[in-house]
Amino acid sequence: MNYDLHCHSTASDGLFAPGELVDAARLGGVDVLALTDHDELSGLAEARQACDAHGLRFINGVEISVTWEDETIHIVGLGIDPENPQLVAGLQQVRGSRLGRAQAIAARFDSIGISGTLQGALSLAANPAVISRAHFARHLVSAGHTRDADSAFKLYLGSGKPAYVPHHWSHLEHAVRWITGSGGVAVVAHPGRYRLSDQALRRFFGEFRDAGGRALEVVTGSHQPSQYATFARFARDFGFHGSRGSDFHGVGESRIGLGQLPPLPDS
Ligand code: AMP
Ligand code: MN
Ligand code: MN
Ligand code: MN
Repeated sequence: MNYDLHCHSTASDGLFAPGELVDAARLGGVDVLALTDHDELSGLAEARQACDAHGLRFINGVEISVTWEDETIHIVGLGIDPENPQLVAGLQQVRGSRLGRAQAIAARFDSIGISGTLQGALSLAANPAVISRAHFARHLVSAGHTRDADSAFKLYLGSGKPAYVPHHWSHLEHAVRWITGSGGVAVVAHPGRYRLSDQALRRFFGEFRDAGGRALEVVTGSHQPSQYATFARFARDFGFHGSRGSDFHGVGESRIGLGQLPPLPDS
């Protein structure tokens, strides 16, 4: 069975509408798909309908932005209930801070002589409530300021760069509770991507487990292949399940297509 349990649609910062994403998943040979938009559930109904029409199994998902010890961490929720009032209210609160942050990012761009970035980013965001740095990056590329999205992050948008605005997202315990309280499984997204020492990562995994977290992404488009074994070992050490997901955002932007990753390690 080909599981892809992490991807994005135009409901957050993906390039495909949910129905188009399901078409791409079919072409990629996916049997079981979870849509995991950032802090947003509005794409789930369309994705489920398209999966039902084409015989794919669909799992309701979300990717929640969390701040833990000054580091932004992403927690995926799988099998959540999109009608759950605490989850819905919690995500609305997280999304609510995005526009103000985007204005602050644009002000930093203004101060280094790059104007019009807020309008540019918003014009590329199908859902302005989830305005993301990815939209700024795409605008910078289309306006000719950088060659590609990756250089937009390296030059301007990444942590510590001139247009980076530190932000406080949700608390780990809250995000995990919204997920588990709505019947879902909480999964650490791309654990190899955070700037945490081995020691801090272990402390984080312990707190995540204490909060009710149950799994780590082991095989993800955000890991180097050499990291699969590392995070399979972490999962075994902490008694976590392993997950697999491309983190697909769109053709030309994502290194790995839907359903194209290697399988999880046998264990
Ligand atoms: P935000 O949630 O607004 O902080 O935006 C984070 C999003 O930016 C991620 O979910 C990715 O879609 C995108 N992103 C982060 N780093 C990069 C990068 N180096 N290249 C392209 N996109 C990136
Ligand atoms: Mn994204
Ligand atoms: Mn993420
Ligand atoms: Mn993601």
